[in-house]
Amino acid sequence: MLIDLHTHSRASDGTDSPAEVIGKAHASGLDVIGLTDHDSAAGWAEAATAARAVGVTLVPGMEISTKLHGAGVHLLAYLPDPTYPPLVDELTKILAGRTGRLGAMLGQLREAGVDITEEEVLAQVGDSPAIGRPHIADVLVAKGVVTDRTEAFRDWLGWGRPGYAVRYATPTEDMVAIVTAAGGAAVIAHPWGRGSRRVLDRVALAELVDLGLTGIEVDHQDHADADREALRRLAADLGLVATGSSDYHGDGKVDHELGCNVTSEQQFEALLTRAAANAAATGRSAAEVVRP
Ligand code: AMP
Ligand code: ZN
Ligand code: FE
Ligand code: FE
Repeated sequence: MLIDLHTHSRASDGTDSPAEVIGKAHASGLDVIGLTDHDSAAGWAEAATAARAVGVTLVPGMEISTKLHGAGVHLLAYLPDPTYPPLVDELTKILAGRTGRLGAMLGQLREAGVDITEEEVLAQVGDSPAIGRPHIADVLVAKGVVTDRTEAFRDWLGWGRPGYAVRYATPTEDMVAIVTAAGGAAVIAHPWGRGSRRVLDRVALAELVDLGLTGIEVDHQDHADADREALRRLAADLGLVATGSSDYHGDGKVDHELGCNVTSEQQFEALLTRAAANAAATGRSAAEVVRP
């Protein structure tokens, strides 16, 4: 059984529609797929319809922007009740922060000599509620400023580059508690990738466990083999579920093909058990796995 629990569609910054992600997951031989667009459940309904049609199991989720000691931490939320008011409030703030940051980023890029308009970016965003730097990257590619998203981040949009601007993110501790109270399971995405490594040591993870943290993503392209082994041991020590995923973004991110990392059946069952326990404890009708 092949299980990939972290993917993106055009409901955020992937390049495939939610139905296309599901169709490609099925074509790649995956049995279970998690759709985890940034800060939004907008792709869930379309993905659910597609999952029933092609016969894959869908785990509805999202990847939420949080901040811990000044570092960005991406928190995967599986099966939370998307109508839980504290969750809705925070997602609204995060999405507003994404939209509000756009003017600043475009102003900074203009000052650095790159003139792109809000209309051009919004054309890339389409009906995604989560405006992201990859959408700006796609405009830079379309205008021939760079050749791909990777180059756009390296030269223009990454931290410390001319187009970078900060945006709102929920404190990680708060969001772990909110997702848990929403009947979901909170799993830290790529904990030792890019910026979050320095803030996510054993002590920090243990503190998050006390707030309800369910798991950590161990097998991810951002993690070297030695990091994966260290994280797997940490997960076992702290009683955390260890997941593995592609973080697929369609054509938007090279070397993140569907199924390039997977979650074991045993860890997946543990994740579902923890989510069900959280849902039972809150009495909320959390989101459900869509089974073919
Ligand atoms: P934002 O959501 O605006 O903070 O942008 C972050 C998103 O950009 C993440 O989802 C990453 O997957 C994506 N990203 C970051 N670095 C790169 C890169 N070098 N190439 C392609 N996508 C990237
Ligand atoms: Zn993304
Ligand atoms: Fe991420
Ligand atoms: Fe992601």
